[in-house]
Amino acid sequence: MQTTIQPKYNVTKVTCACGNTFEAGSTVQELRVEICSSCHPFFTGKQKFMDAGGRVDRFKKKYGV
Ligand SMILES: [Zn+2]
Repeated sequence: MQTTIQPKYNVTKVTCACGNTFEAGSTVQELRVEICSSCHPFFTGKQKFMDAGGRVDRFKKKYGV
């Protein structure tokens, strides 16, 4: 069984607002996104938690807790 009609599906260069570029399968040639896996809060959240931890450490040192 052969299909003559195939969807136009190719590799798309995705450009994120943070400057990161990656490739993804899509029906368009180029795609712009405002958020990606490099700058998504879900992935950067870990660093925020680390910052908060550093602040707590400084607080402890300052007040000798
Ligand atoms: Zn991004």
